[in-house]
Amino acid sequence: MIQVFKKAGFMRSKIGERRPIDGSRDRFCVVCEKMYLAYSRVEISFLCPDCCTPKLRKEQNRYIAEMKRARQHNLPTTLVFKQWLRVLEYFNWSCAYCKEGNLDVMDHVISIKDNGGTEALNVVPCCYSCNNKDNGMISKEKRVSLDVINAVREELARLFAGHASPC
Ligand SMILES: [Zn+2]
Ligand SMILES: [Zn+2]
Repeated sequence: MIQVFKKAGFMRSKIGERRPIDGSRDRFCVVCEKMYLAYSRVEISFLCPDCCTPKLRKEQNRYIAEMKRARQHNLPTTLVFKQWLRVLEYFNWSCAYCKEGNLDVMDHVISIKDNGGTEALNVVPCCYSCNNKDNGMISKEKRVSLDVINAVREELARLFAGHASPC
């Protein structure tokens, strides 16, 4: 019975019950590093069901959106999801610039408009008041001093010293 469905590329034991597609079982969770069963070959997922909390799921979606945005502008997209989580941990999930604001957006230190890619050394958590979503970097430069921006860049460089490239 199962063999027949495997041939078709997927298994469905009951209507509505999703099962892992054959061959999509070798995914590793970026958080716990355990192997888990992916439900679909095409679904982008870096988190096992145990680690896929609403908080991390939100970050995964944010990461995917910002990778897409840079790709649309033909800019580098070398950030891996695990690096984004590392950046968030480093800045305590708070705004990298004011250190107090919430994580509202993934900010490109060098904005996409200025050809900054979605890369480990160029993204930080940022609050709405340090990053004006509508005007991007120009507005942020008015709100955050260049000294603060440079300090954040140095922090990123230290964090990824020697291993900023995707693994
Ligand atoms: Zn996990
Ligand atoms: Zn802030």
